Amino acid sequence: MQWETVIGLEIHTQLATRSKIFSGASTAYGAAPNTQACAVDLGLPGVLPVLNGEVVNMAIKFGLAINAEVAPLSVFARKNYFYPDLPKGYQISQYELPIVGKGEVTIELDDGSSKVIGVTRAHLEEDAGKSLHEDFHGMTGIDLNRAGTPLLEIVSEPDMCSAQEAVAYMKKIHSLVRYLEISDGNMQEGSFRCDANVSVRPKGQQKLGTRTELKNINSFRFVERAIEFEVERQIDLLEDGGKVVQETRLYDPAKGETRSMRSKEEAMDYRYFPDPDLLPVEITTEHIERIRATLPELPDAKRTRFVSAYGLSDDDAGFLTASRDVAAYYEQVVAEAGDARLAANWVRGELAGYLNRENTEINDSPVSAAMLAGLIKRIQDNTISGKIAKDVFEGMWQGEGDADAIIESKGLRQITDSGALEALVDEVIANNPEQVEQFRAGKDKVLGFFVGQIMKATHGKANPGQINALLRKKLSD
Ligand code: ADP
Ligand code: MG
Repeated sequence: MQWETVIGLEIHTQLATRSKIFSGASTAYGAAPNTQACAVDLGLPGVLPVLNGEVVNMAIKFGLAINAEVAPLSVFARKNYFYPDLPKGYQISQYELPIVGKGEVTIELDDGSSKVIGVTRAHLEEDAGKSLHEDFHGMTGIDLNRAGTPLLEIVSEPDMCSAQEAVAYMKKIHSLVRYLEISDGNMQEGSFRCDANVSVRPKGQQKLGTRTELKNINSFRFVERAIEFEVERQIDLLEDGGKVVQETRLYDPAKGETRSMRSKEEAMDYRYFPDPDLLPVEITTEHIERIRATLPELPDAKRTRFVSAYGLSDDDAGFLTASRDVAAYYEQVVAEAGDARLAANWVRGELAGYLNRENTEINDSPVSAAMLAGLIKRIQDNTISGKIAKDVFEGMWQGEGDADAIIESKGLRQITDSGALEALVDEVIANNPEQVEQFRAGKDKVLGFFVGQIMKATHGKANPGQINALLRKKLSD
């Protein structure tokens, strides 16, 4: 039987405010346990939450960026459950009236096509504390620093039909929240994580299959692997005549598998009700328009502009605009060096390669945009070849100075003096009579051998265009 996969994601992104959603405590990551939880976060009796206005503005930005309706009125509700890292006994969230309604984002797929994914809603809520299991033998430590950190939960429609699409969607949302500067999106620190809802159904069937929910996945790679494993598991189960049980499952990255956490029967009844301590959030049209005016150019618009303004392929433009920082870096290189295509090749090729290998963010790159532009200018004016330029890049990365300094100190200037090149060509022709004969007998490929010999002798510094021309001229004499 042919199966079809259906996936919907719930993404939690921490909002990058300095203080918490309902208290003045700091949200900074990495402080000593329980040093950033105040009476409100601890749920002590008699305290009252006060909504952080910045959180509302951030949610509005997101809503506008996905073309969603921002609700003129939204309501905070209590989601009641008991857990050690939730001292109040309930989480403040939004339920029936979320701040952001239906919207959509477009994802680009590997085959070059694109697809629109619906966003059902996005709502504000507070994060819980953390249970620490590792350093406490036979006990669990509780760190409440995270309690009350603002979260935006972004719920998608079940519109994705492969792990690749789910990853592309997650990356798109990640790119958006970073562009909007509403979240640092740091996945290692848990600022951006997702639950993946997965089901399968016979191809062509309308009705959705029974889904499982894979909890709290914090890397793009894990999302992909977890979904792939889960799809396989469900199909195997159904083909063996079994049934998928609606349940929550955990992905274990070490084992590469998902396992059951709790079934639907064990699912909690949260007894949501409007939080009597918080007023409904009212947002005026004027306020929304004020926020709209602050929106930056977003990834899709930037991508389209990169294609038309710089003559880039859609693929290159997509790569260069996925991150706002990369796009800004690229635009600075182009502004200084002029050649948009060459700049794209270097940012996407050499620079991205080094950043990736050394696990470095572009803003921390030892090769600045100005330095890369300086290098590209020396390729353009024929001071060095593209090949030597890679060595110069390496030197810049290692902190040996800018392109000009490295070219001078290492004597990498291309040999363009035709007298000097002619002498080299004469020499290589004189030393290789056998190859000369082959060439004259019509074996054109031998030309590459001669070029190679000269490059070797000059350590790559001969101008390839010039040698080619000289060789052809001399060999046909
Ligand atoms: P819950 O309230 O249990 O979280 P929702 O109906 O809000 O459930 O759905 C949560 C997520 O699950 C959404 O992203 C939705 O698109 C997705 N989803 C719902 N049904 C299915 C299904 N049968 N297969 C895959 N995903 C689904
Ligand atoms: Mg859910």
